[in-house]
Amino acid sequence: MKRSNLLMIPGPIAFDKDVLNAMGAPTRSHVAPDFINEFGQAIERMRAVWQSKKGQPFIIAGSGTLAMDLAGANLVEPGDKVLVINTGYFGDRFGKLLERYGAVVEHLRTKPGSRPTLEEVEAKLKAFKPDIVTATHVDTSTGVVNDIKGLGALIKKYKALFVVDGVCSVAGEEVNMDRDGLDLVLTASQKAVAVPPGLALLVAGPKAMDKFSNRKTPVPNYYADWANWLPIMQAYEARKGAYFGTPAVNLVAALNVSLGQILDEGLDARFGRHQKISACCKAAIKALKLKQLPLKDEFAASTMTAPYYPAGVAGGDLMKVMKDEGVIVAGGLLPELKDKYFRIGHMGSVDIGDLLKTIAALEVALAKTGYKFTAGAGVAAAMKEYLK
Ligand SMILES: *Cc1c(COP(=O)(O)O)cnc(C)c1O
Repeated sequence: MKRSNLLMIPGPIAFDKDVLNAMGAPTRSHVAPDFINEFGQAIERMRAVWQSKKGQPFIIAGSGTLAMDLAGANLVEPGDKVLVINTGYFGDRFGKLLERYGAVVEHLRTKPGSRPTLEEVEAKLKAFKPDIVTATHVDTSTGVVNDIKGLGALIKKYKALFVVDGVCSVAGEEVNMDRDGLDLVLTASQKAVAVPPGLALLVAGPKAMDKFSNRKTPVPNYYADWANWLPIMQAYEARKGAYFGTPAVNLVAALNVSLGQILDEGLDARFGRHQKISACCKAAIKALKLKQLPLKDEFAASTMTAPYYPAGVAGGDLMKVMKDEGVIVAGGLLPELKDKYFRIGHMGSVDIGDLLKTIAALEVALAKTGYKFTAGAGVAAAMKEYLK
């Protein structure tokens, strides 16, 4: 019997068995004492993973897009100016979403695979004077990582609130809210946090909570309103039951298991492992002479890789052979380049074995679709990088 397919897409990812066991356990009452304790512990652990001593974590049933909506609904008041540092598909989404809440949005865009320089961002901060700036830490459509440390320092100088879409980064790329002046960092459970889809997760720092507390207009969305959720998060953290909307009990239990694993591994070790596996993947792609979407090595994320298909190879055929070999990768997402590239996710508990299997499957697929290369070149380059 064949093992299940290896899921190497930028979310959902392959999950650890202890996390999945928590999903499969009999569902408890949302106010059962042991569940209350796990919920409270998950809140505390989020602070540690986001590296925010005073931030307020929120754990709410929904996907990453709900986490973006939570930021928009609670932080934006009509007429607020928001600068979107746009490195792809999810920047476009954030802009549209924020406009729903009455924001006046300007995008700072670059060509696909690039990212705005700090100088370009500073010029825009001076000219536009935004109340809020958003950036996508890793835009999953391009595999481009933003320099959120550099951006954080800059945005602080101009007194804007800095909101980071960390859906493809938190627990995979380094996120340090306190050190880097990040005011809100949001994610979803199914990416590097390594829990099945269904939780919107965010930590709002003191400046973001102040902006929310000082609102002059009500939050225009009932489910998203932090006024409804804040007492719930505070109660669970104080190990008391509370109710606003039924929490996703099994997902929260699974989240607590995964956050425990993340902290046991150690944040630096975990980021280092993601960098290592990413370097192996990118070395393999280069050895196979495939181009990548990020225009410079330093723009490339460590949670995913975005290679172009070779000229003349149909992407659908390539991905089908890879699937027959037991590895699932994702197609392109950026509308203008959709059919020209594919995406390999490497986050969560990913190891060198997973990566070698992926590269081997890619080599089989390249051979079967008529691409000329030296068999084993990708696998060898990945191994060589791993043993460095
Ligand atoms: C996946 C993703 C989202 C959207 O998350 P969903 O869970 O699909 O709603 C937003 N931003 C980024 C950067 C993502 O990778």
